[in-house]
Amino acid sequence: DKFDKGMEKTRKSFSEKINELFAGFREIDEDFFDDLEEVLISADVGFDMTIAISDVLREEMRVRPGRTGEEVKNIIIEKMVEIYEKGEIDLPVINENPNGLTVILFVGVNGVGKTTTIGKYAYKLKNEGKKVLLAAGDTFRAGAIEQLEVWAERVGVDVVTNAAKSDPAALVFDALKKGKADHYDYLLIDTAGRLQNKVNLMKELEKINRIIEREIPGGASETLLVLDATTGQNALIQAKQFKETTNVTGLILTKLDGTAKGGVILAIRQEMEIPVKFVGLGEGLNDLQTFDPEQYIYGLVK
Ligand code: GDP
Repeated sequence: DKFDKGMEKTRKSFSEKINELFAGFREIDEDFFDDLEEVLISADVGFDMTIAISDVLREEMRVRPGRTGEEVKNIIIEKMVEIYEKGEIDLPVINENPNGLTVILFVGVNGVGKTTTIGKYAYKLKNEGKKVLLAAGDTFRAGAIEQLEVWAERVGVDVVTNAAKSDPAALVFDALKKGKADHYDYLLIDTAGRLQNKVNLMKELEKINRIIEREIPGGASETLLVLDATTGQNALIQAKQFKETTNVTGLILTKLDGTAKGGVILAIRQEMEIPVKFVGLGEGLNDLQTFDPEQYIYGLVK
């Protein structure tokens, strides 16, 4: 399906190397571990995750040596799933406001696919019969407002805009008023991703959050950080930086279709407690999917 297709590049590079590793499989020795670690690192699985998998495998082999290559491969898959899930097996869901308007903030640096993702998510919600309002809160980046307007029209949802360079908090206030008065189910808020100016970013997001909390008891239901999977370990660095400035509740990994670095999801999971909620698998309206960790890991290795 779409997910398998989107994961093609990552899977191809990863499973080719894994299969190469097992092609000449005789026994597990230090050379094998060296090669395995190299394969995992090169797929951007991350250092910690790589060591964790390699440690588990060492222990498994100590307890019961002499396993076949296929058995060893299965252990690797199982351990990846186990480490990823950390005891949680439910699919990641988006929290909703049971009392009315569900507010979702989208954060992330320019170019990661934030606007596109909002468009795709609005489309998904609309198809579920929800009434969706967008707020063009990225008043900083040139063209961001127009781009969101284009998406709104394409999807057939409403959008609240304000002049470029105006105060995004004021715009969010207007959007919240409209969202409540006209009984929308969802308000999706685009924000400016100025990570190069952390203090300003933090202040802006704080101000926006204060206004949401004033209008909606309990505040925003989710703050979703959008990350570009093609940037590999850089995405992990961005995730850490954003977590310092705002209460990120979930991640969206975009452009999984355009990269062999899809292993970065494992690295992010290993280092942070934030779940991946969606993955972007292309530029089309239907190319946003709920993230299924098991499907993802089996897709990596099979
Ligand atoms: P923003 O600056 O974060 O709002 O980024 P945009 O939404 O403008 O997206 C930047 C570019 O990435 C655009 O050309 C999008 O079409 C493209 N893009 C976004 N998501 C995906 C995805 O999942 N896959 C692919 N292949 N391209 C994507």
